[in-house]
Amino acid sequence: MEQEIAKIREEALKDLSAANTMEALQEVRLKYLGKKGALTRVLRGMGGLSPEERPRLGQLANEVRVLLENGIERMLEDLSRQEQMRQLATESVDVTLPGRPAPRGHQHPLTTVLREIERIFASMGFEVAEGPEVEWDYYNFEALNIPKGHPARDMQDSFYITDEMLLRTHTSPMQVRTMEKTVPRLPVRVIVPGKVYRRDDDATHSPMFHQVEGLLVDQRCTLGDLKGVLLAFARQMFGPDREIRMRPSFFPFTEPSAEVDISCINCGGEGCRVCSGTGWLEILGSGMVHPRVLANVGYDPETAVGFAFGMGVERVAMLKYGINDLRLFFDNDVRFLHQF
Ligand SMILES: [Zn+2]
Repeated sequence: MEQEIAKIREEALKDLSAANTMEALQEVRLKYLGKKGALTRVLRGMGGLSPEERPRLGQLANEVRVLLENGIERMLEDLSRQEQMRQLATESVDVTLPGRPAPRGHQHPLTTVLREIERIFASMGFEVAEGPEVEWDYYNFEALNIPKGHPARDMQDSFYITDEMLLRTHTSPMQVRTMEKTVPRLPVRVIVPGKVYRRDDDATHSPMFHQVEGLLVDQRCTLGDLKGVLLAFARQMFGPDREIRMRPSFFPFTEPSAEVDISCINCGGEGCRVCSGTGWLEILGSGMVHPRVLANVGYDPETAVGFAFGMGVERVAMLKYGINDLRLFFDNDVRFLHQF
């Protein structure tokens, strides 16, 4: 039996070195290590040996088995490496193929509308200014003719930091800050886009929203000028067929004051569901700058006169795009945002 094992070892190593394909290696494995393989047969025959011979011959046969198994394993690895090298050498990669495009975002609809508003007023000579969102009570209320205890404060339920400091409830404080810097120079032409904060939260109110303030002060300036500027804005923003109307209103920092409506962008003024049958949509508040506000910052109300207006950017965007819930702007749902 010892000779038989030696013979199997010799033949197996010869077959192994001759095998140069995966299939040939599998055949070698079967021939010696398979169920009916030569070595398997020898290992099975161990039971018939004497107890003295069994350990020595068993070890010998096992050595051949391990030698064969390791050899086959190593040659399989060699073959698969050779196959890889062959593929790399024959199959080329076209490096000029275009890559897969990465998903790309775009401007938020509110930013788009804000930029459009800025562009329209810039084309009429207005500069763009920005102010602080944490504001003094003085600028947010006092200097705008809204002293402590004034009922108009109730309409702007505010987030206070201290008794004298709050998150601004409108962009109007920048009227005062701007004029403080420009006085006594004329004219003043500025729009102020930015975030404002109020304690409101429902389908048409958000605790944070955006306004654009407008201010013009000059030696001569009338309600007619205000109406002309706002009509030009309405037509550029909502289409050349728009009309506007001004309704008497009240703001402490303008006198006279007016709410401004545009003719309904859905029905053109006939009356529909969007405009509640009136034909008009409220778009902004405006008025002639109150003489006391001018005097507060050092302009002489006898020689300087101005108008101001303020609009909600969300309101403009909702009308422009037909959006019925303001909260959609801040939910960050890409299915919504992708539509713009
Ligand atoms: Zn309508």
